[in-house]
Amino acid sequence: MCGIIGYTGFREAKNVLIESLKRLDYRGYDSAGIGVIDNQLQVFKEVGEIPNLEKEITVVKGTFGVGHTRWATHGKVSKENAHPQLSCNKKIALVHNGIIENFKKLRDDLEKKGHNFSSQTDTEVIVHLIDEEYKGNLEEAIFSALKKIQGSYAIVVVCEDEPGKIVGARKESPLVIGVGDNENFLASDIPAFLKYTNRVIYLDDGELCVITKNSTKVFDVNKIEVSKKEELIDWDFKDAEKSGFPHFMLKEIYDQPDTIHQTLRGRVSGIEQSIDFPENVGKLLDRNLDSINIVACGTSFYAGLLGKYLIEKLTDIPVFVDLSSEYRYFGTRNKASLVIAVTQSGETADTLAALKEAKNSDCRTLVITNVIGSTATRVADGYILMQSGPEIGVAATKTFTSQIIVLFLIALKIAVLKNKLGSDELYKYILNLKELPRQIREILERSDGIKNIANYIKDANSVFFIGRGINYPLSLEGALKLKEISYVHAEGFAAGELKHGPFALLTENTPVIAITTKDATYDKIIANIGEVKARGPKVIAIADDNDTEIDKHADFVLRFPSNSRLLSCFSITVILQLLAYHVANLRGCPIDKPRNLAKSVTVE
Ligand code: GLU
Repeated sequence: MCGIIGYTGFREAKNVLIESLKRLDYRGYDSAGIGVIDNQLQVFKEVGEIPNLEKEITVVKGTFGVGHTRWATHGKVSKENAHPQLSCNKKIALVHNGIIENFKKLRDDLEKKGHNFSSQTDTEVIVHLIDEEYKGNLEEAIFSALKKIQGSYAIVVVCEDEPGKIVGARKESPLVIGVGDNENFLASDIPAFLKYTNRVIYLDDGELCVITKNSTKVFDVNKIEVSKKEELIDWDFKDAEKSGFPHFMLKEIYDQPDTIHQTLRGRVSGIEQSIDFPENVGKLLDRNLDSINIVACGTSFYAGLLGKYLIEKLTDIPVFVDLSSEYRYFGTRNKASLVIAVTQSGETADTLAALKEAKNSDCRTLVITNVIGSTATRVADGYILMQSGPEIGVAATKTFTSQIIVLFLIALKIAVLKNKLGSDELYKYILNLKELPRQIREILERSDGIKNIANYIKDANSVFFIGRGINYPLSLEGALKLKEISYVHAEGFAAGELKHGPFALLTENTPVIAITTKDATYDKIIANIGEVKARGPKVIAIADDNDTEIDKHADFVLRFPSNSRLLSCFSITVILQLLAYHVANLRGCPIDKPRNLAKSVTVE
């Protein structure tokens, strides 16, 4: 999920690799490494920022090699786990982005054959597999090795015995060739080599490429050479660092079809009709579970509230959601309950304190986080990773949708264990989950309509968001997103609550965003829209494509593709994110770094 670079040419590889890794800095990472071959392979790795790595590098003259910035998914953040990973004879070096799902089994088999592993990563199995198949031709060995691998990958590999040659392959993780004069590049992202060339060849899933300083060859899965078109990129350096997006937040909103796919990856099986967490949390999610406490802050707290609706609906077990800072001092402790902490960074101080409090009270604890090796993963009895890659914008976007996916999978898992969900229903949910990336893409294509509404509400004094049921936490999150990045005052309400107080604040200049889905409360929210309109404000409804009724009631409608009711929360979330983004952009706000806010709040 992080950065890859390979270089072969006439320059000192070490300098090119370091320069390129710095260009990939914007992706966020926890450790980095390079491997350069000058007759012999030399490898340098370090935890933390690239300058830490630079300090480690001694003289190395070679003109080809590989580099990597790692975002750990398997194995803690450490020097050994940083890439490149090496074969036993230390002649083959490999860097990898992605996740190998069947690595445990492969590792056991390889260890039985005598391979010694020096890291805890999933990645290391690939280089040992290649070593196992190696008979003097790197690409042949890689073709054979890849047949045994399940999961997603972009890999770049070099071998001491084949000077000047770099082999790359991809499946569900990007890899692109940079074509130079008397030099060639292979990278996960164009900015890595844009300083040297703007001529690129994109690899497609299943393809493998072999590059030397003056040749580039691409092969399909059947080893047949394919002719690829070279394209010219006219990016400005700086733009490219955000992959062409003006802000990280927008990039991260657009990342969601992929991140949702990554969060589902390895956990849902349509074929076996099962939900499985490779993280081994079986001891925490068992059939005897009879209540759950969720603790979290900010956007993660709203994900927790959504989780409550999902888990209660599917399993019938009660879920209590507390703000971490409240739970710590005031929450009830029930030893039989499972405490689930939700924290993107795994370092949120309030949530860590709540987690420790739960442990001290002998509760079982599970954390949902994006960062392996973070404090939360070490404190809790078990963890589930969001697998959404680094998030740089302060306002959480893609990590929120990944949190909801994980909570939804937990709900499905418990429902199955408790016999509350038959295999047909589970299968339907799995199919609907797999549809999500496509549906999110559709929402992203409808961005212009959302921009128009943003223009309409950008000068409002205050914006209200209303919804019922699962749409209530979405209203809270929609309001939070708007206020934190655009500085427009916004509040989210359970739609039934307006008449108990907030009505007093409604004026013509208080647009109301009403989230509507065709569920048991549909008529009620239509009535709420009527009550709002009677007091002057305009109503913008967010509604399903199939809802033909809504146009009669709302002033404007933003639509989302129909899905099962419980799953429409993902499309609605993306609409709310885009709305907040466009309002903030129209108001000229510093979207990625809103005033007074930090990405990860490590103080209580
Ligand atoms: N899964 C690999 C690891 O944990 C690669 C992570 C990445 O994409 O950076 O080492």
